[in-house]
Amino acid sequence: MLYMNQEKKTDSLEAMRKFSETYAKRTGTFFCADTSVTAVVIEGLAKHKDQYGSPLCPCRHYENKEIEVAVAYWNCPCVPMRERKECHCMLFLTPENDFSSSNQDISEKELLEHLNKI
Ligand code: SF4
Repeated sequence: MLYMNQEKKTDSLEAMRKFSETYAKRTGTFFCADTSVTAVVIEGLAKHKDQYGSPLCPCRHYENKEIEVAVAYWNCPCVPMRERKECHCMLFLTPENDFSSSNQDISEKELLEHLNKI
């Protein structure tokens, strides 16, 4: 059982890593020059996906996460991102942002290294 849970968590992390790469490419946005920021946000999204069934934005405080997931406004990609390309987590940055890199990929290895998982 423990093994299955661990596998599910790894799956969510990988799913959110792939989502982030695909979504950055689709929207013409880029990851932060400091990829530890990217890694921590992806991990936060994956944790929320595991705990609440949806990748609720990890960079906000919520009184009740179940209600927020149901409302869906802050499910990633959130409404401000979809409407105005505003990602306050700095996961998806427009090219003119001072912190933007020219990178839309983060390898599984790089992600896990930042999270001290390998
Ligand atoms: Fe996703 Fe929006 Fe949070 Fe950025 S601010 S990580 S787009 S939910």
